[in-house]
Amino acid sequence: MNNPLLSDALLPAFGAIEAGHVEPAMRELLDDNRAGIAALLASGANRWDTLVVPLERMHHRLAKAWSPVSHLNGVMNSDALRAAYNACLPLLTAYHTELGQNAELCAAYQTVADREGATLGAEQRKVVDNALRDFRLAGVSLPPQRKQRFGAVMERLATAQAKFDENVLDATHAWSRHVTDERDLEGLPANTLRRAQDAAGAAGRDGWLLSLDAPTYQAVMTHAAREALRRDLYEAWVTRASDRGSHAGQWDNGPLMAEILALRHEAATLVGFANFAEYSLATKMARDPAEVLGFLQRLARVSRPAAQREFAELERHAGRRLAAWDVAYYSEQLKNQRLQVSEEALRPYFPLPRVLAGLFTVLSRLYRIRIVANASVAVYHPDVRYFDVLDRDGTARGGFFLDLYARPKKRGGAWMDECVGRIELAGSSALPIAYLVCNFSPPVGEQPSLLTHHEVLTLFHEFGHGFHHLLTRVGTPSVAGINGVPWDAVELPSQFMENFAWRDEVLPLISAHVESGAPLPHEMLARLQASRTFQAGMQTVRQLEFALFDFRLHAEYVPGQPPRIAGTLAEVRDAVAVVRPPEFNRFAHSFQHVFSGGYAAGYYSYKWAEVLSADAFGAFEERGVFDGATARRFLHAILERGGSRDAMEAFVEFRGRPPEIEPLLRQMGLAA
Ligand SMILES: [Zn+2]
Repeated sequence: MNNPLLSDALLPAFGAIEAGHVEPAMRELLDDNRAGIAALLASGANRWDTLVVPLERMHHRLAKAWSPVSHLNGVMNSDALRAAYNACLPLLTAYHTELGQNAELCAAYQTVADREGATLGAEQRKVVDNALRDFRLAGVSLPPQRKQRFGAVMERLATAQAKFDENVLDATHAWSRHVTDERDLEGLPANTLRRAQDAAGAAGRDGWLLSLDAPTYQAVMTHAAREALRRDLYEAWVTRASDRGSHAGQWDNGPLMAEILALRHEAATLVGFANFAEYSLATKMARDPAEVLGFLQRLARVSRPAAQREFAELERHAGRRLAAWDVAYYSEQLKNQRLQVSEEALRPYFPLPRVLAGLFTVLSRLYRIRIVANASVAVYHPDVRYFDVLDRDGTARGGFFLDLYARPKKRGGAWMDECVGRIELAGSSALPIAYLVCNFSPPVGEQPSLLTHHEVLTLFHEFGHGFHHLLTRVGTPSVAGINGVPWDAVELPSQFMENFAWRDEVLPLISAHVESGAPLPHEMLARLQASRTFQAGMQTVRQLEFALFDFRLHAEYVPGQPPRIAGTLAEVRDAVAVVRPPEFNRFAHSFQHVFSGGYAAGYYSYKWAEVLSADAFGAFEERGVFDGATARRFLHAILERGGSRDAMEAFVEFRGRPPEIEPLLRQMGLAA
């Protein structure tokens, strides 16, 4: 069989990849790697060139083959692909555990460190240090029985986390609300109504069919005048994959959550940590749990009084006590009244093609590159486009697939993922390729997708991740781009990019009224900027609620007892929240960041990196947002270096000092 997943071509052969290719390709690659590693060890390889380089090459090939599978499973989910993906998860986990626990391999790396440590470059030294750390985290020195148990735990964890995701996806798609009386939809934006009408038509029904995709959910929460409709969608959203709501028990993640927490705790203690929170910090910038909790509590002390004032003001505006499903609606009203700025009124100024062109201009000016559409590259869906990234002189730097619209069978949210990592090692060379994914409302008829400013920020955010990956100059894959970057520093480039979408210098580049072509009028721009700090306290405590819940859940786990999911959440809410959700709220059951994504005992990373990004952007505010020298320093010290150096060192090189929290507080309007 000619398996497209095993092709040497740079880009995935979308169109040729079928579910049937997945398992044979992965089995073949894993067998090849196992044989390759055994041969290396048998030959006594223990030098950078003879050991590390071949291993980096093997793992680059494996990652490159798996990437389109994992991507398609997320954006073009089907029963066949899901089954193939799930069949491979245990194989991959078993392989990684085996690798991490290979004592002979670990000893060979140790020899590289001992014999060549002084002569290796900083990038190479980092690769070896990371590898030695990861051997320790995988339990390389454990006795055989405990090693085996660690492997079994990791394998079950991967499967349980994938099942958690599936449950959320299935529960989300299973729900819809059929509406026949237009009055029930009062206040909803025209594009939401049109999509709901199309959905009803496609289902052979009259009226409107509301689904639980993110754009629809957010539109209803923010704009639906009828409280009953808001409550209806709110309940469906916060009870997904739980023991409550209209599909109660059908995809209940409750038992999986308990199992996931227990497995993580067991894995962490097997390799010598007190709990999973400590294990998680072993690879992060933050030093220990006390530093993380202290950081979050400091932010809570500053933001909670502001949040309480803001919430009291909101209830005064509404003239009544507010339920959780009222907050976004009345906040939007208050924001309109106070600042005369509404996300919906801004949409016509942000047609997607204009925003993209402006964003490309910003990136080109900052980093002296060009971004050019390339229609000759095979894509996996008609909505997807491919772009080349070139230096000014035309040298190729990389490329990306852009997949921006919500559609069925596509995971919600927005993210960047590595399609191909950069490699530049003896005998191997590949440019970095990225996937950039959002879930914006698709174009309707002739009209392009019109973005809210919030969605513009999302786009800038993901491009921040994308260009961290794409502009890397590192040639060793395990520390190129975002690889090897501590999780609590990885949001630095993304949140940094968001800052540009608020600036006078940038808004005219990314806005043009869909009919008149006029840029965002100056006074609207000023009001939009003023809105940045609107309810900053409430926004901050919400993030702190998630971060503290996640961190405490992992830090305070007691083996042998059921995890205190609801109890911890209630305590955290008592400490920081101002909006009290109803009893039926089961938000944790669909909290994918923490239960199935990479943010376990790491959700605090968003706030942590926001400190870094606000402070880094401060350098641009001081010198001008397009200041060439500042941009080049950011490019050379941070973006191009990826995970090849210590994150704190990189920051200090760029900023000339360690990060400070004040720029973030000023940005949020929370400075004393
Ligand atoms: Zn991000």
